[in-house]
Amino acid sequence: MHELSIAARVVEEAGRIAAAAGGRPTRVTLRIGALAGVHEPSLRAAYGMLREGTPLADAELAVEAVPLRVWCGACRTEHDVAGPVRLACPACGRPTGEIRAGRELDIESITLEDAPAAPPLPPHATRSPP
Ligand SMILES: [Zn+2]
Repeated sequence: MHELSIAARVVEEAGRIAAAAGGRPTRVTLRIGALAGVHEPSLRAAYGMLREGTPLADAELAVEAVPLRVWCGACRTEHDVAGPVRLACPACGRPTGEIRAGRELDIESITLEDAPAAPPLPPHATRSPP
């Protein structure tokens, strides 16, 4: 149960971060790389189970998928590739083993309920739409 141990680590780390920030978390956003080998439905199920009784009990899980990105030394460029089956530069076709992104499994952000209010604006200023 790979996803169970990942979810346990997320609950523990996010709980610690939220406690340090002093707010009740409403969302935890993860960045998960294409090569991280995470089965998202299993991770969500494990998270839903493990968050009970923790500071994350009401925090939803959001996932940002990170594509597999490689570096080609011949083109001197990074490229996203569709999958790890054929690790080659999509521009010039040279094989590459230099993976630049895709293994991520990070807590990207934690949204807290008690976020500080935006500072007041001068009388003539308006807020831009979200
Ligand atoms: Zn290339």
